[in-house]
Amino acid sequence: MKLVTYLHGGAERVGLLSADGAAVHPLPCPDMNTLIESGDLADIAARAGEPIPLDAATLLAPIPRPRQDILCLGMNYKAHLEEAAGYNAEAFAKEKPVAVYFSKRVSEAVAPEGFIQSHRELVERLDYEAELAVILGKTARNVRASEAGDYIFGYTIVNDVSARDVQTGHKQWYFGKSLDGFTPMGPCIVTADEIPFPPALAISAKVNGEARQSSNTSLLINSIGEVLEEVTAGMTLLPGTIIATGTPAGVGMGFDPPRFLKPGDVVECEIEGIGVLRNTVK
Ligand code: MG
Repeated sequence: MKLVTYLHGGAERVGLLSADGAAVHPLPCPDMNTLIESGDLADIAARAGEPIPLDAATLLAPIPRPRQDILCLGMNYKAHLEEAAGYNAEAFAKEKPVAVYFSKRVSEAVAPEGFIQSHRELVERLDYEAELAVILGKTARNVRASEAGDYIFGYTIVNDVSARDVQTGHKQWYFGKSLDGFTPMGPCIVTADEIPFPPALAISAKVNGEARQSSNTSLLINSIGEVLEEVTAGMTLLPGTIIATGTPAGVGMGFDPPRFLKPGDVVECEIEGIGVLRNTVK
């Protein structure tokens, strides 16, 4: 199933995309967090309403207001680790293949086709990061890597927009990752049953139509299973938790000279089977 959050008639709704992607069936549930926490997707989907054309609705981020900060992986593709260390070795060099965890505050995720805020008064080095995001469907504690797939509700795309000057200008990345308008998400959640675990999906990003990132989610240094096993050994993760699994090589800071974003730029993040997340820098 492909699940979306959308605006229709001034109301925010949750829906199920039709097989051809041209229509949405409203679901009898107030929002995506409630749907995930219910643990009752099959029953709720069985009560889907009559379809409306997608053209008559406005897509929002599938989880517009995450209940908690996004749990993020840094430096989780080898080629990206190398390009980042080349940009700033002090900030990004990583000697051992241990997972780098950080978090990203998201008061409101940016909708598909919505605007990335450039914060020109604060940010000079604005960058994009296409990422596969994992959404948990149940409480996760002491999860074994081999069972990690059972905890996943679905997958979406997140653009982990980053202010490189703010990110490296402080001891922690939190501020430079968490500005308003820094988390485009969508266009939908693909439920876990539709993607064999672990996901091996083509992932890419374009800026103004030019290919920048191109990789595959099978190339994660720290796999989803390893991450869930490690984190839940000491930290309970709740249903609706979003884990951004890291970005491949080809971000703006990886070029020589770097190619940062500016107002008017269009960023398209694509993952096979999920779709394209397209946003314009404002
Ligand atoms: Mg990232």
